[in-house]
Amino acid sequence: MSLVVQKFGGTSVADAEKIKNVARKAIRAHQAGNRVVMVVSAMGHTTDVLVDLAKQVSDRPPAREMDMLLSTGEQVSVALVAMAIHAMGNKATSLTGAQIGIRTDSTHTKARIRSISTERMRRLLDEGNIVIAAGFQGIDENLNITTLGRGGSDTTAVALAAVLGADACEIYTDVDGVYTTDPRELPEARRVKRISYDEMLELASLGAGVMHNRSIEFAKKFSVPIHVRSSFTDQPGTMIVPQPESRDQAVCGAALTKSEAQVTIQGLPDKPGTSLAVFAAIAEHKVTVDMIVQNVGEHGKADISFTVPRDELGITLETVAKVAGELGAAGFSHDDNVAKVSVVGLGMAKRTGVADQMFRALSEAGVNIEMISTSEIKISVLVGRDDALKALRAVHQEFQLDQPPAGNGDEAESAVAVDEPDAVEIVRRLQSMEELTIDDVSLDDTQARVTIAGVPDVPGVAADVFEQIAAAGIFVDMIVQSFGREGRATLSFTVPQKDLEAAVKIADVLAKRYECRSITSSPRVAKLSVSGIGLRSHTEVAIRMFRTLSDAGINVEMINTSEVRVNVVVEGQHGPAGLAALQKAFAQFQR
Ligand code: ASP
Ligand code: MG
Repeated sequence: MSLVVQKFGGTSVADAEKIKNVARKAIRAHQAGNRVVMVVSAMGHTTDVLVDLAKQVSDRPPAREMDMLLSTGEQVSVALVAMAIHAMGNKATSLTGAQIGIRTDSTHTKARIRSISTERMRRLLDEGNIVIAAGFQGIDENLNITTLGRGGSDTTAVALAAVLGADACEIYTDVDGVYTTDPRELPEARRVKRISYDEMLELASLGAGVMHNRSIEFAKKFSVPIHVRSSFTDQPGTMIVPQPESRDQAVCGAALTKSEAQVTIQGLPDKPGTSLAVFAAIAEHKVTVDMIVQNVGEHGKADISFTVPRDELGITLETVAKVAGELGAAGFSHDDNVAKVSVVGLGMAKRTGVADQMFRALSEAGVNIEMISTSEIKISVLVGRDDALKALRAVHQEFQLDQPPAGNGDEAESAVAVDEPDAVEIVRRLQSMEELTIDDVSLDDTQARVTIAGVPDVPGVAADVFEQIAAAGIFVDMIVQSFGREGRATLSFTVPQKDLEAAVKIADVLAKRYECRSITSSPRVAKLSVSGIGLRSHTEVAIRMFRTLSDAGINVEMINTSEVRVNVVVEGQHGPAGLAALQKAFAQFQR
């Protein structure tokens, strides 16, 4: 008999009528011969209301008590769903996270699942029950209630699907699938039929808002195919699976993150260990650093820019004030009036000209780019918050995301049913759950670097640079633009070594035209990358990388990060030693 996990978000259970509606959906699946496990979120905006209440009684509510409070939202909804199913004449049992046996660590409000016991759920299913699991919560070893972070019910659903070996994991929500961008921001957004885990991971971490990113990490790791669909219609939604929607498409989606704040530390000594010191100090406060951009230094000094969620800016600045002093930095600045616009696509890894196309579209829309970070499958820019929507629309149009891609997959759905796990396998899976998995530690020492310092802060410079480089047929790999001093930015990028001379020539002409300060280049740099699952939700990866290189006495020149990868550029001669050190440091996490 098939087993399906059906997850219903807060809007799907917002009132009594909606609760009856989800009860009917589950009963229908049950009557069709499935064993049904439901995972339910708190009703409507309950969690927000609870968070707000907590803030009214305390400036800094203890995290343990936050979890105690927030977990009640899901307890209410699972009980009501169970009652509704009973009232319709079917058997149903609700369970809290603790009652299921979802064990987590003790990081309150952002706990990680350690293990899940399936016994009680299986017994209830065997007895003909629909099992209704409270999303988003667990219990630590001292029986304290924990929660998995906002939006964590998705993680609960995928985790249950994985350990139960479910045949399907359906995420019912208030949208009918994954869109090329948030349709509330841009009405021309298009629903995609299919998206790959990696693309979805990047989009989710960019605030695409459809699913919690850790739930997608889980799904990828355990090959759980996910079906995101509307709880208010019976239409098929979007499948999240290994392959992208189309192989011929460079970009599959665009995203806007409005709640970012940017911090720049200026004039850090350009020597091994500085990035480590900065990010280790910030990580101690469990702040999720998002975009990290370190640029090539001038006169032995480097600047590091990064973004954090706006509501974590306060604690970040406190920490930065301390480390900047300790490290002898020239100073630091911040800007909380910024937004990040990104494009994502597995296809861009093999194509030239995607970046310049994006920068040109922004320039034509009159948008100034303040910071740039690229990865293999993502380009992100930071822009002023007032320009955010205009910027999003410009890139969405530029990549024709409103049109279905050519070769749009009506090919047979990739059947990636979860294997029926045996007992030993389940235990193994449970133990490795949510641990970091590293796919690859790699070295690319075929590249050279160009850096333009003192780039004026006006629209169009990046567009001109990368358009001309692309026109010369040169493939640009990594691009980093960071906030500099006195309203000027530093722009660095890497190109194949053989193309360095041509790239510098182009850069020279443009640097003169825009009255930039200087151009430097390096004929041979080494790009070291660590890729895998759990990177961003494990700040430790970037830190472990910085620590390893610092211990090996290797200076980091450029950094950029994405959900699935951390890249650093070091001097060419250090490539092999850096690779060896990183391989050793990450060996224990490799699959
Ligand atoms: N109720 C929790 C929240 O709003 C968990 C969830 O909805 O997934 O964040
Ligand atoms: Mg929610």
